[in-house]
Amino acid sequence: MSLADHIRTESARLAALCTACGECVRACPMVPYAPGVAESGPEAVAAGLVDVLRDGPGTEAARAWIAACTRSGVCTPACPERIDPAFMLRLATWRAKGALGAAPLIPVKEDPQLPARVKAFARLTMTEEEQRAWL
Ligand code: SF4
Repeated sequence: MSLADHIRTESARLAALCTACGECVRACPMVPYAPGVAESGPEAVAAGLVDVLRDGPGTEAARAWIAACTRSGVCTPACPERIDPAFMLRLATWRAKGALGAAPLIPVKEDPQLPARVKAFARLTMTEEEQRAWL
């Protein structure tokens, strides 16, 4: 399975499980730094995140939350469905940055050295078969 297919499959799986209860948003320490998130309310922000996972544009507040994520993981134990919201955010970040070929939904910081660093690290951790499929 390619990385793009993995992103699509996992996005669909987690979007189907998420109830948009907003507990992950309530737990998130980055909310004060994400414009519009506190005003929109946790449930609406979570619903916007799920929309991004389903190929939608999300909402302005959901996109701000995605862009503000620092991968603290504080959200994960807060989820009553035992989904991993931090992984959902990661998937949404990839999607919002255009990883599947669509126009980016959030600002993308250009780093021309990043692909080389990612590949070097991946070669240390992946099997030969995974490298052939993913790199
Ligand atoms: S806490 Fe879990 S179920 Fe609730 S919105 Fe977040 S990911 Fe979805």
